[in-house]
Amino acid sequence: MLTYVHLLNIKNIIYIFSLVIFVFSKSIPATELDNDFNLAEISEANFVHTGEHVSIEDSQHDDIANIGFIIGDKCVAVIDTGGSIHIGQKLLQSIRSITNKPICYVINTHVHFDHILGNKVFESKETSFVGHHQLADAVEHNRAFFLEQFKNDLGLNPEESSIIGPSILVSKSMQLDLGGRLLTLIPYAISHSHNDLIIIDDKTKTLWAGDLIFRQRIPSLTGSLRGWLNTMDTLQQLDVEKVVPGHGATATTLKLAIEQQQSYLRRLLEDTRKAVAEGLFLNDAMETIDKDNQSKLLLHEYQHASNVSKAFTELEWE
Ligand SMILES: [Zn+2]
Repeated sequence: MLTYVHLLNIKNIIYIFSLVIFVFSKSIPATELDNDFNLAEISEANFVHTGEHVSIEDSQHDDIANIGFIIGDKCVAVIDTGGSIHIGQKLLQSIRSITNKPICYVINTHVHFDHILGNKVFESKETSFVGHHQLADAVEHNRAFFLEQFKNDLGLNPEESSIIGPSILVSKSMQLDLGGRLLTLIPYAISHSHNDLIIIDDKTKTLWAGDLIFRQRIPSLTGSLRGWLNTMDTLQQLDVEKVVPGHGATATTLKLAIEQQQSYLRRLLEDTRKAVAEGLFLNDAMETIDKDNQSKLLLHEYQHASNVSKAFTELEWE
């Protein structure tokens, strides 16, 4: 027994020692922060937590979106809060490990669960919730669905007040001042969803695009295919130097940020129009269009058929 304990201790010591060596030998880029929430300062005072590329069935489904925060001289703005109370808490901890400034705004880029269910964690007198002018209605509309579908992600005893919508509604381009740092907020017409909003940190020209931009992962179409393609053309006019998509890696140009999604959505438009013109039924269209995943998008098998169905319904009456 003594020998066993002794061996165990030696093993532990060796393990701890190798961990220390590992941590010190790993070169951490200046912009990557050493915490367990995968947080990076992608441009000055802009911090992003990058979500995972997993499906809704995965245990990490509450951590799929890119979320983060921007720090001004006076206060902090949070951009999206993740898909659960747990992720919201992790985000709040990350913020508090960097700054004690008040959080004056929580800005939600749209209504989808993976961007909004952590809101409750940020509820406080000093914090205003901000979103697209149609977001408040969308939250009301989805409340029962969220409570039913994401019960386990909403804390111990979720109730109606666990889901928080915006009190500041953005109906046209506007600015928020974080103290020496202006954020420009722009709402869009129906695109990825019915309530997409982007945020630009003017100082660093960093665009937080929400789900108007997906990278690597297949985009999910819940708004309008034609609307989304139009919005992407508009986005390309913006003068930005860093792009944070709703899902996937950050990019240094808009062209780079949108090219994969744009080619997928353009193909979806063309192929679906053709299928409608040829008189195909919806099921046949879902079976044939872009079956081989030409844009090489992740999770294509989970989302593509639903995108074809949505596109077909939109285009069959055009
Ligand atoms: Zn999303």
